[in-house]
Order: sequence, then structure tokens, then C-alpha cells
Amino acid sequence: MTIEKLLIANRGEIALRIHRACHEMGIKTVAVHSTADADAMHVRLADEAVCIGPPAAKDSYLNIASIIAAAEITGADAIHPGYGFLSENAQFAEIVEAHGIIFVGPKPEHIRTMGDKVEAKRTAGALGLPLVPGTDGAINDIAEAKAVADRIGYPVLVKAASGGGGRGMKVVPSEDQFETLMKQAGSEAKAAFGDDTVYLEKYLGNPRHIEFQVFGDGKGNAIHLGERDCSLQRRHQKVFEEAPSPVISSAERDRMGGIVSKAMADMGYRGAGTIEFLYENGEFYFIEMNTRLQVEHPVTEMITGVDLVREQIRIAEGKPLSVEQKDIEFHGHAIECRINAEDPRTFAPSPGKVSQYHVPGGMHVRVDSGLYQGYVVPPYYDSMIGKLIVYGRTREGCLMRLRRALEEYVIEGMKTTIPLHQALLNDPDIQNGDYTIKWLEEWLARQEP
Ligand code: ADP
Repeated sequence: MTIEKLLIANRGEIALRIHRACHEMGIKTVAVHSTADADAMHVRLADEAVCIGPPAAKDSYLNIASIIAAAEITGADAIHPGYGFLSENAQFAEIVEAHGIIFVGPKPEHIRTMGDKVEAKRTAGALGLPLVPGTDGAINDIAEAKAVADRIGYPVLVKAASGGGGRGMKVVPSEDQFETLMKQAGSEAKAAFGDDTVYLEKYLGNPRHIEFQVFGDGKGNAIHLGERDCSLQRRHQKVFEEAPSPVISSAERDRMGGIVSKAMADMGYRGAGTIEFLYENGEFYFIEMNTRLQVEHPVTEMITGVDLVREQIRIAEGKPLSVEQKDIEFHGHAIECRINAEDPRTFAPSPGKVSQYHVPGGMHVRVDSGLYQGYVVPPYYDSMIGKLIVYGRTREGCLMRLRRALEEYVIEGMKTTIPLHQALLNDPDIQNGDYTIKWLEEWLARQEP
């Protein structure tokens, strides 16, 4: 099956990223957009564009009926959901397939399993991935859960099965607060996700966030493309990502990579996926799997030379993986900075009109962004306006080039997080790769107001 026309059910830089892969493969593209995005770059570059609703995402980018109608009107034979929006909505994937349209993504049942954290953990455990110690599944009996907490030791973490973006998560410091905090986590999750199911995990004090990129062909073959280190986070949102991780040896990469790719092969997984782990004292602990392309996928592309979106599209066409594990080599180092339209100190959103614009260039510098001079960043969506990805033969060289590229980057008319990245690069801990998931918030607390 060959895809001739693909509808991109997304906006911003990721819509452009998918458009570029399509055009390099000779595939025509259909953009969809809200009324707020009529002038967006993803609309301008696409071969066709369909307006699917008003600015609010629930009425446009999350409007399944409008998106399916747009695919039918334009005769698109495939839909790529990007990340966010409908990318991890199993029902959307089912509806797309029920209309005879190719869904560029995993099998719907795998999206569903991995979308429920309790199910995901059970599945991961059965597939041989190392888990964070905790309850076997949802907490049904408080006395039983307390016994588990006693066994693994306080502090423990109560997490919502349906949680996301760090919501519905509570650290319980001691037994006397167990019930209160468990109920709080449950009601937070109920309010945000309509489900108050919670489970219990050992709370890791100071881990790193290490994730593995995987690909499956849906027929029992799978590979891994190494890890990314995404420990630099603020409120569980990634700020800066790098590959390889400064703390993972090639022996560890091969060992864990072997475990995750075998798990994906056994599962019959199809398409791109990311398996996220916390890493502490030399041990990996599975936390979740994302059944989609990630924001930070370019760092993996830089060090492996594999075009991940092209690979997704090929797999969706039913083709075999274009590379075997033995063909994958890791070269050099790559870092991505997420550039947000935000105040770099307070993180208050700062949408507005781009009055001056200059992107950095030169060797091994990549900017993925939908911005252009005169473009007005709308206030309705995520504040990320671009990604700067830089490659170097060594981590040190990569940092030097990143510093140079950030110096060149000009975006005027709004506040951006470029100065935050510049300040981070001056810190010895970042220079040495010596940071964990707690590091950035502690560093921010130390900065002058
Ligand atoms: P979400 O889907 O809400 O992002 P995750 O399970 O991916 O939830 O966890 C988000 C973040 O919460 C992790 O990146 C990590 O910073 C923290 N976290 C999750 N589980 C634990 C744990 N057991 N111990 C310590 N921190 C954790």
C-alpha cells in the first residue's frame, strides 16, 4: 500500500516536520487548521488546506468528525496525528481505520493499553521491563496498599492510572498522611480525567529521566535507536533534551535497548514509540510508554541519521523497517532546546507578533519552527514556538555550537526562553552533564527574582 496523500492532524512545528518528510517521499499533504491558524506556515506549505473549526482545540484540532470529513473531502489516504492533540487517542485511531484511512501510528489496542498507566505497567512487567516497586495494580484496599508502602518504605508516590502531565500525583512522606493524600490524588484525577483509580509506587529521590526510542513493524520485528536524556524538566515539562545521555555507557545502552526492542517485538508493536524510565543508582525503572512521535525525536535523528517520520510513514504503508539493529550506529552528540513564547523567569505565556526574526544556521544546526517575520503567535495553544537542535562530534563541541547558535537566534516581539537556555549553558552542572529531574527547579529557585 502506497500513501499518495497524507492529512496532517496537527499544527506548528510538528505539522511542518511531517510535511517535509512527506514531500521528500513524494507524498502530497493536506493541512487542517483552526480559524486562528489560517496564516500559519503549516497551512501555507501544504498542498491543500481545510479549516476545521474555531480557535479552541476541542472544536478544531480535537474535532474528530471535522478531521475525518477533511480527509474524505480531499481524498487523503492516511492521517498522521503528530504529538499531543489526538495522537494517543485510541478511539480516533479506530475511527480513522474504520473509514479505510491509514493511521500513521500504533495499533489502537496498543495505544489504549499504554494510555492506562496501571495496564501499561502490568504489560511492561509481563514483557520483562524493570518496574518501579509498588502495588501490582490499582489500590482497592487501603490496608493492603499501606502494607505495600511499609514494605518498600516511605516516601511513596500515589499516581493516577489516567494521569498525565504530572497531574494526579502525590508524594506521601509518612503513613499518617497516606489516606488523606491518596484521596487528594484520586479526586484530582477524577476532576481532570474522569477516573479516580490510583496506584502506588516507590518514590525515587533523585533520578534521571532516560527514554528509549523504539520502532516496530507490527509483525514481530523491532529495533531501538538508543536513549535520550530528558532530565532537565520544569513541572514535569521537558526543557532541554540530549542524546546520548551523559551517564549511560554503551554496554548499558545495548543491554536496555535489547530488552526494550525484544519487548516491542513480542508485543507486535507497530510504528514509533518511546519507553520512559527513571534511572537511579545504575537501575532503570519503567514509568510509561508514549505511543507516538516525541517532541525531542530530532536528537535521535541527529546521532543515528535515521529519519523517524519517514520510518513511521513506511511502516504505515506496511513496509519492513528500513534498518536492522546491526545497521544502527550512534555518532556524536545532539542537544535540543525547546524555545517557548514565555517570560524566561516567570514562564508567563507571551504570545504576540514576530517583529524581527533571524534563525541560526551553519554546520549541524537545525531549527524546527513554524515562525516567520510578521507571524502572530496565537494565544490558544502550547507556548512552544520552535526547537533548536545542534549536533557536535563530542558533547563539548555540541555545547559550544549550541552557545553560538543561541547567540545568533533573534525572535523579537515577544519574550522567549532563549535567555534561559543561555543561562543554563553557563552552569558547570549542565556543562558536566551532572543533573537530575530535580535540578532545574532547584536552580530556578536559586536565581535572582
Ligand atoms: P505523566 O504522564 O503525568 O507525565 P509520568 O509517569 O511520566 O507521568 O511521570 C512524570 C514525572 O513524574 C517523571 O518524569 C518524574 O519526574 C516524576 N515521577 C514519576 N514517577 C516517579 C517515581 N516513582 N518517583 C519519583 N518521581 C517520579
